[in-house]
Amino acid sequence: MLGALRWSIDKRTPLQDVDAVLLSLRHRRLLEPRGEKRIPPFTPKPDTEWAIGQEDVDRVAEFRKCIECFLCQDVCHILRDHQLHSSYFGPRFLVRIASLEMHPLDTLDRLDLTTDEGSLGLCNTTKCCTKVCPEGIHITDNAIIPLKERVVDRRYDPFVREARQQDGQA
Ligand code: SF4
Ligand code: SF4
Repeated sequence: MLGALRWSIDKRTPLQDVDAVLLSLRHRRLLEPRGEKRIPPFTPKPDTEWAIGQEDVDRVAEFRKCIECFLCQDVCHILRDHQLHSSYFGPRFLVRIASLEMHPLDTLDRLDLTTDEGSLGLCNTTKCCTKVCPEGIHITDNAIIPLKERVVDRRYDPFVREARQQDGQA
C-alpha cells in the first residue's frame, strides 16, 4: 500500500517522501474529531427543486475534487509550527465549509462556526496549502479568502448588518 501511495504522491506533488503520507494519516486522525464531525452536513430545504445553474455547479465542483490526503493540513504553518490544532480548523476543513457555504441549495449558516470555533482569522493566506494540493484546488483563493470576505461583509458592512438585523438574524 505504501508503494502505491508513494507512487501517487511522487507523480502529483513536490513532496516525495513517504513520511509525508504517514504524517498526513497521523494528522487526519488528530484532526477528524475537531473538524469534519463538527461541521453541519449539507442541508437542503425539504421541498428543494434539484436544479442548479452551471455557474453554481462550477463554483463548488473544484472543492469536490478533494481526496482528503491532508497534505494541506500538514504544511499549514499554523498547525505544523504553532500546533494550534485545538483552535484552528485548517485548510482541508475550510475547503469543506466553503463547499457547503457556496452550495446554492444548502440552507445552513456556518460562518460563525468558522470564525468562532474554527479561527478562520488565523489564516494569513500564505498559500502553502494550495501549493501542495495534489488535486490543484485553489484552497486559499477560492475557499479561504471568499470565506473571509463573507465574514467581513457580515460583521463590518453596515448595509449587510442592517439587513440582517431587520431579518432578525443579528
Ligand atoms: S493559506 Fe492559510 S490555511 Fe493555507 S497554509 Fe497558509 S495559513 Fe495555512
Ligand atoms: S484540499 Fe487538496 S491537499 Fe487538502 S486534503 Fe483535499 S486534496 Fe488533499
